[in-house]
Amino acid sequence: MALAERVAAVRGAISAAAERAGRPAGSVRLMAAVKTRPPSEIQALASEGVVLIGENRVQEGVEHLEAIPLEVRRNLEVHFIGRLQANKARKALLAFRAIDSLDSLSLAERLSRIAREEGLERDVMIEVNLGEESQKGGVAAGDLLHLARAVQPLPGLRLAGIMGVPPYGENPEASRPFFRRLRELFDEVRRAIPEAGDFGQLSMGMSHDFVVAVEEGATMVRIGTALFGPRRAP
Ligand SMILES: *Cc1c(COP(=O)(O)O)cnc(C)c1O
Repeated sequence: MALAERVAAVRGAISAAAERAGRPAGSVRLMAAVKTRPPSEIQALASEGVVLIGENRVQEGVEHLEAIPLEVRRNLEVHFIGRLQANKARKALLAFRAIDSLDSLSLAERLSRIAREEGLERDVMIEVNLGEESQKGGVAAGDLLHLARAVQPLPGLRLAGIMGVPPYGENPEASRPFFRRLRELFDEVRRAIPEAGDFGQLSMGMSHDFVVAVEEGATMVRIGTALFGPRRAP
């Protein structure tokens, strides 16, 4: 299948799932998770109208951007979705429009300080680690509200939502209870911090389970394999 067909298939599946859930198809944004993919594939995606990009590594993301011509690059909205090391915070903040994987107050404070120094305003999302899997980033569900309250007033940052990755299960239905829980947590934060006016994004769902995520309320899905085909060995 060619890229254009895979994009159309993913978009079709998102719209159908949104419709089943009684939501407008336009309420779900498609993010391409581009780790290990060459810049040429990102450009090809952009020409299909997929301009929301998720990067897992700061250096790889910077290299992607440098290799893409300016007229394409300026249409891209690149978010960071990987684990952010403190010493890469400035580079990430300068290169990317948003950090979707915030998971500690010390990192948030550092990002806020750098954003002020650089005269930037950046969206951040808090990553929730529902399975409490130690190899993944993210805060435990029980720490989310506390962190959200602490991040919300930090200057230079806008609290935009939450992101979650459920424990991997072969069957997409295994993700459903985790997505439901993420949706509940999302609603709790929204209720508890009404002054976070930009808080509206719920990023959940990947290639194998994005349909279930949309049914459960995702406003953003992060898709790699289903758009590009299987990842090559690094
Ligand atoms: C790789 C990745 C994805 C996409 O995974 P696929 O299974 O290839 O769709 C989504 N989110 C994050 C954080 C990732 O690292």
